Amino acid sequence: MALNKMLAQAGVRDMLRYVGDDPDREGLQETPARVVAAWSEWFSGYGKDPKDLFKVFEDGAERADEIVLLTNILVHSHCEHHVTPIIGVAHVAYIPNGKIVGISKLARLVDLYARRLQVQERLTNQIADAIEQHLEPQAVGVIITAKHFCMATRGVKMPGVDTTTSAMRGAFRESQAARAELLDLIKLTK
Ligand SMILES: [Zn+2]
Repeated sequence: MALNKMLAQAGVRDMLRYVGDDPDREGLQETPARVVAAWSEWFSGYGKDPKDLFKVFEDGAERADEIVLLTNILVHSHCEHHVTPIIGVAHVAYIPNGKIVGISKLARLVDLYARRLQVQERLTNQIADAIEQHLEPQAVGVIITAKHFCMATRGVKMPGVDTTTSAMRGAFRESQAARAELLDLIKLTK
């Protein structure tokens, strides 16, 4: 087993002991390995470069100068302060400027950044920045609404609270009309 994985599993054993349990009892014997495997999945976004998602098409983009919008993309991330889940949805929109991207790639982009330790504000901006950088569109809009389990299950313990963040670029930032059209479209899809 790789040294890093062994150290990670030893760390989980320490935490199990720290909370008052016995990592050697039968039910917990496989737990360190499972926890490390789960972390590898939850944080698989570190090994990935968003650039690889942007296979850009010009064919089909000739007359595409209206909003392209994906709604309700699952956001499954983790708070970098408590390593607890952030669960919600993202709405991602852009207005092409001669280039389009496979729409599933935008959902993958959300997932790539979500699978890192995050604060919701940074997650929202990173998605918008990557689209802006690789597609050079007329506008980009990203809106995320999510529940933070660190707030729902500890501290103030308010499970009902949703956090919404947005990142607007280009026309969605500069033009009230363009932004209003985007928000209307999102409302329509609810
Ligand atoms: Zn937190």
